[in-house]
Amino acid sequence: MRYAVLGTGIVGRTLTAKLASLGHEVVVGTRDPQATLARTEPDGMGNRPFAAWHADHNDVPLQTFAEAAAFGETVLNTTSGPRTLDALGAAGAANLAGKVVVDIANPLDFSQGMPPTLNPVNTDSLGEQVQRAFPDARVVKTLNTMNCSIMVNPASVPGEHNVFVSGEDAAAKEAVTKLLTSFGWPAGSVIDLGGIETARGAEMLLPIWLRLFGALGNTAFNFHIQGAHKSA
Ligand code: NAP
Repeated sequence: MRYAVLGTGIVGRTLTAKLASLGHEVVVGTRDPQATLARTEPDGMGNRPFAAWHADHNDVPLQTFAEAAAFGETVLNTTSGPRTLDALGAAGAANLAGKVVVDIANPLDFSQGMPPTLNPVNTDSLGEQVQRAFPDARVVKTLNTMNCSIMVNPASVPGEHNVFVSGEDAAAKEAVTKLLTSFGWPAGSVIDLGGIETARGAEMLLPIWLRLFGALGNTAFNFHIQGAHKSA
């Protein structure tokens, strides 16, 4: 299958490496490939520059957001939350139309300092904003509630734990669930929250996730919904 991973940060790199290791064709999308490859500084989280990662994964093309989105049959959004609509706008509505768009971004607003706040929140979500802005895309919010190393290696967290999916299109959620299963998520660990409006809840887990990170001093944890089962 052909995937476009929009985003050159640690999340995009992690998912790209996993998809490639599973035998998929993957292209990474960025604003300006030359500028991205020319960066020599680590990012804000201390991750090595993209070029250093790319040297180890040079079989994965780096293209503009639009070129990558045109290539992908499925598109993963791993861009900065406050910039996601810009990035997807650059990808182009026509290149997203009819495709499953897996939205992993969180609308974290660092403009008021730490800890970040959510914007939008409560009565809206980034997942909904993406679906509204690109009505022909089949948006599924998922994987945003854990560190990226766990996204692709759920067994790294001992015991049972969960991943959520939100979206309007049942077939798109089914396809994403299959993708998650291929990453190692047991089928029973995937909780379908409902329509894209439920992305509000998934995104609003971020404040508690951030406090857990602060309290525990590491990111090697995830949410487990004890007793989760669906009533008839
Ligand atoms: P990030 O630094 O949040 O985002 C990097 C990407 O955002 C880059 O591809 C960058 O484009 C793009 N971007 C930045 N400013 C832009 C602008 N003005 N216009 C268009 N695109 C712009 O990367 P990350 O740390 O990998 O996180 C990715 C997303 O995943 C975030 O939304 C984050 O909240 C979410 N998330 C992260 C984790 C985690 O483990 N870190 C877990 C769950 C969810 P260029 O490539 O052109 O620089």
